[in-house]
Amino acid sequence: MDIGSKIGQGFSSLGNGDRPSFAWRSVLHGRELLEKGLRRGVGNGKSLNVWMDPWVCDEDEMRPPYLKQSLRNICLKVSDLIDLPNRGWDVELLDDLFLPQDIQRIMANKPAVDHDDFWIWKHNKSGDYSVKSGYAVAFATQKKDLICEATLQPSLNGLKIKVWGLQTAPKIKTFLWKALSGALAVGERLATRGMRLDQRCQFCGEEFESINHVLFTCAIARQVWALSLFPSPASGFSQSSIFANFQYVLSIGNDPQVPIEISQPFPWILWVLWKNRNKFTIEGKQFLAVDTINKIKGDASQWLFSQSAEKELDQLHENESRLVKKVWKPPDSLWDKCNIGVSWLKRKNVVGASWVVRDSHGRVKLHSRRMFSNISSWDDAYLKCFLWATDSMFSHRFTRIVFAFEDPSLVSAINRPKAWPSFRMQVSELENALKVFLEWVVVLESRSMNRGPYLIAQSVTKYNLAQSYVATGHPDWLHDLFVSEMGCSSV
Ligand SMILES: [Zn+2]
Repeated sequence: MDIGSKIGQGFSSLGNGDRPSFAWRSVLHGRELLEKGLRRGVGNGKSLNVWMDPWVCDEDEMRPPYLKQSLRNICLKVSDLIDLPNRGWDVELLDDLFLPQDIQRIMANKPAVDHDDFWIWKHNKSGDYSVKSGYAVAFATQKKDLICEATLQPSLNGLKIKVWGLQTAPKIKTFLWKALSGALAVGERLATRGMRLDQRCQFCGEEFESINHVLFTCAIARQVWALSLFPSPASGFSQSSIFANFQYVLSIGNDPQVPIEISQPFPWILWVLWKNRNKFTIEGKQFLAVDTINKIKGDASQWLFSQSAEKELDQLHENESRLVKKVWKPPDSLWDKCNIGVSWLKRKNVVGASWVVRDSHGRVKLHSRRMFSNISSWDDAYLKCFLWATDSMFSHRFTRIVFAFEDPSLVSAINRPKAWPSFRMQVSELENALKVFLEWVVVLESRSMNRGPYLIAQSVTKYNLAQSYVATGHPDWLHDLFVSEMGCSSV
């Protein structure tokens, strides 16, 4: 799922008006946080104005390029800078328009010319948005203590355990748990602790403000519940029992008859009602029920959405690990399998590359090796080697081919491009290279299944073998290895 584009498009047209409402301001605040984590990726460049949009990556910031000359075409699009036949930047034009340091920055990222422009989440490798990392640690430690405490209050255990099972943010679970435990400070609670304060509800003037009142029965709470379309109990929420009310909302939350978009946000309703009440009591801020419900829906859907994106990634990783088997496997009949070996020598920026093609009996048809220089990362190394292998397979007229290599990121990005926006440029290049084959598959190979090709690639960097070649069969020095893999595969 592509949260970046959803958020990016929605936000780019928002303004900050003269008197932004609470909901609006909170949306704008969220936007700021998100924009800090998002980076613009250039696809076909059609949506990006050269001089106005932040599309040049400078350290951690995105900005428009600096001006080289005072005269400029303000309507110029980034797409105008792309040399389509070559699927890259128009270098002469860049030279004309920009300062050398900006040109370097622009050249560092190739445009993904077959795609629209996109957004990349900076804080994980795939570039897809994820909230898991931030929450996981906090939640793990918090939950342990609270579950331990919860077991000390037997009468409430059932409700509290259900609260922990809710699909909602950890901070909201903690809040709900506190509400059930009477651990929130409202007028009533403050009074029982001997802190003398006005015990009236500051919203509606009701005599005795309780947690139950704030969350369920106060006039403002009733308005918000009504607007949320969450089904209300036949005779309204209980005036006296917060437990009855929790029991009720938890049961509706689990009711398959209620549409999920109505049943799921209720933890956020309770949470935001409580937050608003505090802001009102402490800062005197007032909230309209309509703004409140919009905020609730926004928060809830964003959280739930990011969870599902997260689940998808987990699934992906699981699939990847399932692909990792111990022994090299031959392709199906009529297919050939091209294993790619990559060895990157960081201090020299040099890559040793190899490919080995085998048929469905495991017999080596051809193998090749070569060297690439000026390669600055593993990602670049794999991309370069894979492109070289596709080129070679095409020129040797292989039509149905399995490509197998050891880089899980690139393998996932090709198979699930939407979950890997940071690899859009690479995927775009590869899709273009792969479309010449009748059929192709890209699979992840573990080192133990890719030993031969890896050793050939390693020999290139180890002995500085700059001379490239293509040969039939396997190399003599790896005879035993390839023969034994052929033996394994026929079992
Ligand atoms: Zn009230």
